[in-house]
Amino acid sequence: MNELSSSKRRKVLDIFEKFENNRKNTSDSIVAFNFNKKRVRLLNNLNYVKTGCKGVLYWMFRDIRVQDNWALLFAQKTALKNSLPLHVCFCIMPSFLNASIRYYKFLLTGLMEVEEECKELNIYFHLLHGEPNLSILKFIETYKMGGVIVDFCPLKLPMSWVDDVQKKLPKDIPICQVDAHNIVPCWFASTKQEYAARTIRSKINMKLEEFLTEFPPVIKHPYPTEEKFESNSWETALENVQADTLVNEITWAKPGYKHGIKKLDYFLQNRLKMYADKRNNPLSNAISDLSPWFHFGMISIQRSILEIKEYKKLHSKSVESFMEEAIIRRELSDNFCFYNEKYDLVEGAHSWAIETLNKHRKDKRKYMYSLNQLEDSQTHDDLWNACQNQMVTIGKMHGFLRMYWAKKLLEWTETPETALEWANYLNNKYSIDGCDPNGYVGCMWSICGIHDQGWREREIFGKIRYMNYEGCKRKFDVAEFVKKWEKKQR
Ligand SMILES: Cc1cc2nc3c(=O)[nH]c(=O)nc-3n(C[C@H](O)[C@H](O)[C@H](O)COP(=O)(O)OP(=O)(O)OC[C@H]3O[C@@H](n4cnc5c(N)ncnc54)[C@H](O)[C@@H]3O)c2cc1C
Repeated sequence: MNELSSSKRRKVLDIFEKFENNRKNTSDSIVAFNFNKKRVRLLNNLNYVKTGCKGVLYWMFRDIRVQDNWALLFAQKTALKNSLPLHVCFCIMPSFLNASIRYYKFLLTGLMEVEEECKELNIYFHLLHGEPNLSILKFIETYKMGGVIVDFCPLKLPMSWVDDVQKKLPKDIPICQVDAHNIVPCWFASTKQEYAARTIRSKINMKLEEFLTEFPPVIKHPYPTEEKFESNSWETALENVQADTLVNEITWAKPGYKHGIKKLDYFLQNRLKMYADKRNNPLSNAISDLSPWFHFGMISIQRSILEIKEYKKLHSKSVESFMEEAIIRRELSDNFCFYNEKYDLVEGAHSWAIETLNKHRKDKRKYMYSLNQLEDSQTHDDLWNACQNQMVTIGKMHGFLRMYWAKKLLEWTETPETALEWANYLNNKYSIDGCDPNGYVGCMWSICGIHDQGWREREIFGKIRYMNYEGCKRKFDVAEFVKKWEKKQR
């Protein structure tokens, strides 16, 4: 028999039932849970909650979910130990790395689900507005929070918010960071910038057993607050956003934990068996399409891996390939952005790549396009135009074609710096999983050869790996893909 039994098949969706039961749980389960402290970074030297305070705060900004969230679990454990109410804040900023209204709507709808679930669990969810660092500091001061637990994201902007809050926080309030996104916490996976997947793989795999563990549930919180809070203003949040409003909402992916788990279940039942062999064929429907939920932390990568591992006997090659992408490659992206502040600049590349790009800087470009022409899919290359249309229309380009798309920007723009800047600009604007370390690293890999090696030297690219139309034709039916995406469907 090649499929799992029906009882096994229901397993992923049974997660919902499990969470229903969490509400009946008592505080003992989480208090007794032996939390792995390596997931936690103390950002000041305090490890006790301030006396006389009125609550513990989890400042959420990367991992938008309640269950399967180590940061929220650590916050709840801290609150329970100190018999305090538990608060969760998310701050909506007016703009974020060129993200469009598509991105914001997905985010806000996912947050509404978080609010709903928090309410059921007696946890207080607050939607704040403005610059996160300022709003968070104000919240801490106004409502007398006695300890702060914050998400981790290695991108410069969120790192700078956290840095600012940590510096301005009253000296008697502890603040710590929990990496709820990665399985092996980024700072623990490696203490330096890794050269390539081959150098980080064994470091992560060695630590996987320790970190790839089952989550305890977040439970109904027994300590209510006496404070009165205004209800969250979702309309104002959207009104204050200064993002491009012409980028349409997507319909194929619905935000939130529940939809993410359903998508994971769909992948396991229908696509996983093809993943090893067909994931590089953009017409095959073999990839998981989970990146929107992974990016926003709407489902936990760790949860997905725990579930997918159950299929190891049935689809061993596919499970292995998925783990390579979702653990090793993804954590490598976080590693690069965490240890290299120039992750979005050509200067951040290795010296061999900078040298070869400089050597070919003045090479004649047969085609050169403006940003407008590229954005409007007006190049001579029907495949590239189709890729751009796919990204603009549904907010996600197939992974194999993302490489081709970015490499052509190097070929068709005046300098590698322009190519990288425009690649990040377009990716962040249209991709629903954009504004992510994976995106910055994907563009750097394609244009500046990071995590790659030198290849046979050629014009413009120098030793950066080259990709061309003919190569794509050997991999899949280019004409069919072009036919599917020749027009933008706005
Ligand atoms: C130019 C370029 C831009 C990219 N931009 C983004 C981006 O904005 N956001 C994003 O999440 N990924 C990005 N990637 C990486 C990769 O293409 C996507 O993660 C993948 O296509 C997402 O689709 P999926 O979830 O169906 O992938 P699957 O193949 O089903 O993989 C499952 C998960 O593994 C991780 N993963 C897969 N491939 C990679 C990879 N090459 N590097 C790191 N992690 C990976 C992702 O978290 C992904 O969701 C980019 C790659 C390139 C070359």
